[in-house]
Amino acid sequence: GGTHTVDAETEALQTLHRVFGYESFRGAQGEVIDHVVAGGDAVVLMPTGGGKSLCYQIPALVRPGTGVVVSPLIALMQDQVDALRALGVRAGFINSTQDFDERRTVEAELIAGELDLLYLAPERLRVEATLDLLARAKISVFAIDEAHCVAQWGHDFRPDYLALSLLGERWPDVPRIALTATATDATHREITQRLGMPDARHFVASFDRPNIQYRIVPKNDPKKQLLTFLKEEHDGDAGIVYCLSRASVEKTAQYLSDNGVQAVPYHAGLDAGTRAVNQSRFLREDSLVVVATIAFGMGIDKPDVRFVAHLDLPKSVEGYYQETGRAGRDGLASTAWMAYGLQDVVQQRKLIQGGEGDEAFRRRAAAHLDAMLALCETASCRRAQLLGYFGQEATAENCGNCDTCLTPPQTWDGTVAAQKVLSTVVRLQRERGQKFGAGQIIDILLGRRTAKIIQFDHDALSVFGIGEDLSEPQWRGVVRQLLALGLLAVEGEYGTLVLTEASGQVLGGQREVRMRTEPEKTVRAAARSA
Ligand code: ADP
Ligand code: ZN
Repeated sequence: GGTHTVDAETEALQTLHRVFGYESFRGAQGEVIDHVVAGGDAVVLMPTGGGKSLCYQIPALVRPGTGVVVSPLIALMQDQVDALRALGVRAGFINSTQDFDERRTVEAELIAGELDLLYLAPERLRVEATLDLLARAKISVFAIDEAHCVAQWGHDFRPDYLALSLLGERWPDVPRIALTATATDATHREITQRLGMPDARHFVASFDRPNIQYRIVPKNDPKKQLLTFLKEEHDGDAGIVYCLSRASVEKTAQYLSDNGVQAVPYHAGLDAGTRAVNQSRFLREDSLVVVATIAFGMGIDKPDVRFVAHLDLPKSVEGYYQETGRAGRDGLASTAWMAYGLQDVVQQRKLIQGGEGDEAFRRRAAAHLDAMLALCETASCRRAQLLGYFGQEATAENCGNCDTCLTPPQTWDGTVAAQKVLSTVVRLQRERGQKFGAGQIIDILLGRRTAKIIQFDHDALSVFGIGEDLSEPQWRGVVRQLLALGLLAVEGEYGTLVLTEASGQVLGGQREVRMRTEPEKTVRAAARSA
C-alpha cells in the first residue's frame, strides 16, 4: 500500500546518502528504484554514465535478501565487487575466473544470507547447480545488465541470455530489472519479449548528451588531421583516440608522442602490466591521451575526458554512441571527432563479406554499418540523427553543437531521385507483393538486365530504367540518405527496403529532400569496390 511505498522511498534515499554518499537521485533513478523496491519489474534504458548501477544496487540493499546481478562483463566483476566492498556493501561474484575455494566461499556466504549483491556470468545460469544454489538463498531482486545482449539482431547477442526468461518462471515473486545503454525500438521490444517481462514498467531516459559536440570530417591525412585537432582544440586535455587495429594504435600513439602530445597505446596485444599502468595513468592524470582499440573504455569511469576521436569508422551506431559517450561525463564541453573516408567503407564491407558468421549475421553487420554510414553522410543535425536511431526525438531541428548545424554542408535537391527510389519500392510492393533490398532497387532504376531482374520480370516495371541519370554509387548514396532521414526503412533478416510513414510526403510532393553532395573521391572509390 501507500505507506509501504513512502517508507521504501525514504529508505532508498537514506541508502543513497549513507552508503554511496550522494545528495540526490539523478534522472529517473528515484522512480526506478521506488518501483523495484515495491516489487515491480522494470526495463531501464539509460545512456552510458547515466547511473544504471544504483537502480539495482539500492533495491538490493533495501529489500531483504541478496540481489543477483547477471552481467557478461566478467573482467569487470572483481573491480565492481571491490568498489562495493570499499563502501561497506557485502558483495561477491561467481564466474569462470575463480578457483574452487573462492567459489565455495561465495556460495556459503550466499546461503548464509551474508551477501547484499551477487554478480553472476550469464552462462552460470545454464548450469542446474547454480539454479539449485539460488533456490537455497533468499533473492531480493534479479538485475539483468547489458540486457540488449538478449536481442538476436543486436550487435552483442549472447545465446546465454536467452535462458534468462527462466528467472521469471522460477522466481515469479522476485522483481526483475533489465538495464541497457544501447537499445533501438526493436531491441527494446525484443528485451521485453525474450526476457518474458510483459508487465514491466519502462523507463527510457533521454540519450542526448548536449555537452558533446559531434563532428565527422572527410579523411585525407588522418594522423595529421588528428594532431591539428588536438593542438588547436584540446591541447593538454585528457582524451581517447580509437583505431581499428593494434598496428594503427601503436603507430598513432608513437606519432602523437613524437609530436609533443603525451600519448600511450592500449590494446589487447599489450601485456597485462603495461595495460594496467596505462589505464591507471589515464585515470589519474589530467592530460594523457590513450590511443586504443575498442578493448579500452568498458567500465572506465573518468569524468573529465574532453574528447573522443575516431580514426576508423565504428561498426555500429551503438558502438559509436557508447565510445563517444565516454567524453564529458562531468557535463562540461567535450568533442566527439571522427575522420571518415572511402577506405573505411571499403574495409568494413570487405570485413563483413570475408568475415565469420552465416548469411544472416553478415546481413545484420551490413545493416549496422549502413546506419553508421547514414550518420556520417547526413546533411542535417548529427545529434538528431543519433537520437533518431535510438527512437528518440531531438528537442530542436538545429542543435547548434554538431558540425552540420555549425557549418551546413553542400547539398543538392534529391527530391526527384528520392521519389524514384520510393516509387520503385511502392510498385514492387503494390503490383507484385514483393520486397527487395537496395541492390535490386538500384538495378531496376539503372535498367540493368541482370539474372535476378529477368527472373522476377522486373524489366516490365514502369520504373525500369528511370534512374539512368545517376551512377550506381550515387544511387547508393541516395538510398543510404533516405534511410538516414527515416524516409525509407530496412526490414527483417533480408534487409529489404520498406516505406515509412514519412515516405508519403515525399511521394506526394509535399516534402523536398536535400541531400549531402557526395565528395568526388568517395563516389569513385565506392565504384571501384562494387
Ligand atoms: P552506467 O552504468 O549507466 O554507465 P554508472 O552506474 O556506472 O552508469 O554511473 C556513472 C557514474 O555516475 C558513477 O560514477 C556513479 O557513481 C555516478 N552516479 C550515479 N548516480 C549518481 C547520483 N545519483 N549522484 C551522483 N553520482 C551518481
Ligand atoms: Zn546538430
